[in-house]
Amino acid sequence: MYDVIIIGCGVIGAAAARRLARCRGKVAVLEAQNDVANGTTKANSAIVHAGYDPEPGTLMARLNVEGNRQMGDLCAELDVPFRRTGSLVLAFGADQQPRLEELYRRGTANGVPGLRLLTGEEARELEPNLSQAVTGALLAPSAGIVDPWGLALALIENAVTNGVELFRGCPVTAVREEDGYFVLTTPKGEFTARYVINAAGVDADKVRALLETPDFTVHPSRGEYYLLDKSEGKTVSRVIFQCPGPEGKGVLVAPTVHGNLLVGPNAEAVTDRRDLGNTADALDFVRRRAMQSVPGLNLRQNIRNFSGIRANTDRGDFVIETSKAHPHWLDLAGICSPGLSSAPAIADYAAELLAAEGLSLEEKPDFNPRRQAVPRFRELNARQRAELIRKDPRFGRVICRCETVTEGEIVAALHSPVPACTINGVKRRCNAGMGRCQGGFCGPRVQEIIARELNIPMTDVLMDQDGTWVLARETKTGKEAR
Ligand SMILES: Cc1cc2nc3c(=O)[nH]c(=O)nc-3n(C[C@H](O)[C@H](O)[C@H](O)COP(=O)(O)OP(=O)(O)OC[C@H]3O[C@@H](n4cnc5c(N)ncnc54)[C@H](O)[C@@H]3O)c2cc1C
Repeated sequence: MYDVIIIGCGVIGAAAARRLARCRGKVAVLEAQNDVANGTTKANSAIVHAGYDPEPGTLMARLNVEGNRQMGDLCAELDVPFRRTGSLVLAFGADQQPRLEELYRRGTANGVPGLRLLTGEEARELEPNLSQAVTGALLAPSAGIVDPWGLALALIENAVTNGVELFRGCPVTAVREEDGYFVLTTPKGEFTARYVINAAGVDADKVRALLETPDFTVHPSRGEYYLLDKSEGKTVSRVIFQCPGPEGKGVLVAPTVHGNLLVGPNAEAVTDRRDLGNTADALDFVRRRAMQSVPGLNLRQNIRNFSGIRANTDRGDFVIETSKAHPHWLDLAGICSPGLSSAPAIADYAAELLAAEGLSLEEKPDFNPRRQAVPRFRELNARQRAELIRKDPRFGRVICRCETVTEGEIVAALHSPVPACTINGVKRRCNAGMGRCQGGFCGPRVQEIIARELNIPMTDVLMDQDGTWVLARETKTGKEAR
């Protein structure tokens, strides 16, 4: 019997797991997919928002500002790339100026530090590539950029090394309550727990429906992006927003912690929560909007398009509450933007709510908050590189030439506390395949290393989710998909 089971291992489930790993109880995380951080957490704008956008008094406002405050120390503890770049919201013309002023007032009410209203000239002094049509801007120095899947991975790795049990490929398909505990059915058998945290992202309403009729509904909204090559990464040095509207925070242009430039997203209501496609119309909309902010944007250097699905609900705020009929069940639902920014604060609040229902949060004396990432070869100086190669010659063999990722890093990703098991899992852990060629050159070599390290045939190596085999296999009766 577990004290707490967390359903879903995106950044929210991972943050909750790491929070509870500080305490003495027995905790498990059940993740449907074969890897963690493979839902909305892997496909978003990667911004740690300052917190001027949410309405004062909402959970979003409180948890965003608190999450932002915690992010620097947290990322330092977990060795996750994070940069407090600051952000600008742009106004184009006098009719948008009142919107900036409203954001300034909201931000001040929410406790966002350092907000300043700028003229168009002042904004262009900070960001010379901004359009001449910009007439004013709101500067938020506390906004930042983070590696979103890196953060989730680091959180769950740290939780696992502190005793949390993670089960992947373990979708919860049924729930019942018996004599004061929950029984969760999965393909790997039944799990029992005294408390359950539902962190199932866009499926949080479906997971709650396994227990009882949910009092919220997820209305998925898709956002599409361009990811530009590192040659464009310095086009702006802050996150550049336009005035937010009812459909979201609008199209942004932002540097990434890996040195690329991110452009997007739009917001389109979709019915299929798994439809991560890109459409010409949406990308054209993103292009036109982004060029308003930064007219010289070089979209010919696009290396990838992708999309993510927001878990919007009919509530207009995060749904973080225990069930009235089953108070040991806690939903962390409707965690749309700014969910990534708020993750550490959501985790603290979740622990508080469960403590109010009787969960003991007695701290473990041996909790180790630190997680040391595998050395990133590309970030080392010549002396450090030579030292690393002397200790392990596999760090001397560069596999991904675009991102300078070595065999040593890939092997480490395959044997880490939450090991990669797919080509994309390797990519998320050490960047192999993230560069200009998007794995065109290194993909087959990564595949060989996975097969060798996991002792499986090349034909069993997956690109990503279950069923995504890369190679076909000849059989007596013809070609199989694997
Ligand atoms: C386009 C877009 C842009 C965004 N930009 C930002 C931003 O810049 N800043 C910001 O702060 N936020 C942003 N967000 C929001 C942020 O990405 C999310 O709030 C965050 O990733 C949500 O994490 P999660 O863990 O709740 O969901 P997910 O990452 O989706 O994780 C949920 C997990 O639950 C698992 N699961 C589902 N059902 C089951 C089941 N039955 N059993 C077991 N496991 C299950 C899934 O497989 C998945 O891994 C953006 C979102 C989108 C879509």
